[in-house]
Amino acid sequence: MLEYASWIGNEWVPSKRLMEVLNPYDGSVVGRVGIASAEDLDRAVQAAATAFESFRELPAYQRAEVLARAAQLIAEREEKLAQLLVREIAKPMRDARVEVRRAVNTFAVAAEEAKRIQGEMVPLDAVRGGEGRVAFTVREPLGVIGAITPFNFPLNLVAHKVAPALAAGNTVVLKPASKAPLIAFELAQILAEAGLPPGGLNVISGPGGELGDRLVEDPRVAMITFTGSAEVGKKIRERAGLKRVTLELGSNSAVVIEDVQDLDRVVERCVQGAYTFAGQVCISVQRIYVSERLYDPFLDRFKARVDALKTGDPAEEDTELSAMISPGESARVLEWIGEAQEGGARVETGGKMHGSIVLPTVLTSVQEEMKVCADEVFGPVAAVIPYCDFEEALAAVNRSRYGLQAGVFTQDLNKAFRALKTLKVGGVMINDIPSFRLDHMPYGGVKESGMGREGVPYAIQEMTELKLAVFNLEF
Ligand code: NAP
Repeated sequence: MLEYASWIGNEWVPSKRLMEVLNPYDGSVVGRVGIASAEDLDRAVQAAATAFESFRELPAYQRAEVLARAAQLIAEREEKLAQLLVREIAKPMRDARVEVRRAVNTFAVAAEEAKRIQGEMVPLDAVRGGEGRVAFTVREPLGVIGAITPFNFPLNLVAHKVAPALAAGNTVVLKPASKAPLIAFELAQILAEAGLPPGGLNVISGPGGELGDRLVEDPRVAMITFTGSAEVGKKIRERAGLKRVTLELGSNSAVVIEDVQDLDRVVERCVQGAYTFAGQVCISVQRIYVSERLYDPFLDRFKARVDALKTGDPAEEDTELSAMISPGESARVLEWIGEAQEGGARVETGGKMHGSIVLPTVLTSVQEEMKVCADEVFGPVAAVIPYCDFEEALAAVNRSRYGLQAGVFTQDLNKAFRALKTLKVGGVMINDIPSFRLDHMPYGGVKESGMGREGVPYAIQEMTELKLAVFNLEF
């Protein structure tokens, strides 16, 4: 059994109260973490603020060395960390390994990017009045970054905040999700082992409503970087005042299947996109718009492949889909499916539980206003929807309060560019599903999917301040 307190200044600070972290698949206790008090939060922020004064002075190559060592240590502990993900969030082993490898990438890329944080020359003499002056910009760290993270990628999404923050010379106070805090404490120890000075990363766990509010409002915190639901994201934005805020929020991502060369490959990608980690992925495929020319063969093959998904114990190597994060979340998803059925939707497969697992579900005859379409399901549910006209399919994708990423399968270059221009999302994947993401690409949404961009180099831009230097050479 793992047991953690708050991690402040590279030391454990015991808490008076503890909370249990349960294995979502079998309900066993995986570990206990402290519930940080207001005083613990205050100490964590102070530790980060004090550490910032010296950390910002570290030369880039030394920050890079810490991040590169962290990448190496994560790689060496792949098996142990993957097993913890399996137990903490019931992520199937094969996906857990992918997450750990991605965290290695995130730190490795951050190590490289730490060395190329730079400004640019500004040609002041391009306008009258600029004669005799030279100017350039520099990028400076902001200070203490408050990071709040969700349960679904509790290692790599923490990495996406911590690695770029440290690369840029900031220090961090992290509040991980209460359902999955354990691996964040493992990461904090890895960073200490990698040589991160005390106070560089501080981790406190406890209810987001209490700790989150305090962290967001603390005047010593320069920026909040949040990944989670739109509901919480909106509250954070309201409370943050003039602080810089990055919000990576939810979505009901769509894919449009217009014309394809190999339907089986498209089916395979859509199954991966919709059911990986039981659909608990922000860019999970939720709405599948299929040209009516392809609808019947697509649906037949899609259903057959979904029925063949191996469900079960996340610890087993061949398990493809396991339990959702909590019984409450499973119940919500079943309720939404039931509501859709009452409105006339058809459950092609799934729609019920098997043990602790919500079976992968395919819906047809859905209406746009149903929760399974309009809201973020964040579960193993996808709706397959026929369309006649490509422009109409693009318009349907856009009729959403979200806009994270979208996918379009087409062999027609004009249609690809048309989709790129029309879709109101942060990223358009041509001939792929919306769920495609690599850790160095710009990533983020529009509308209620958030603001700002992650992906290491882009997060570094968000986590630094542009400062201008002007030299008057004629004085
Ligand atoms: P969540 O309920 O919004 O929680 C996310 C984090 O916010 C947790 O650490 C939570 O703490 C904390 N929190 C809760 N209330 C807060 C408040 N009032 N102030 C500050 N923090 C607060 O999200 P989740 O269920 O963990 O994750 C699922 C959501 O994350 C989905 O909507 C998904 O789409 C989104 N997501 C987005 C991305 C992206 O990159 N766009 C990536 C992954 C996930 P507690 O755990 O203690 O409640």
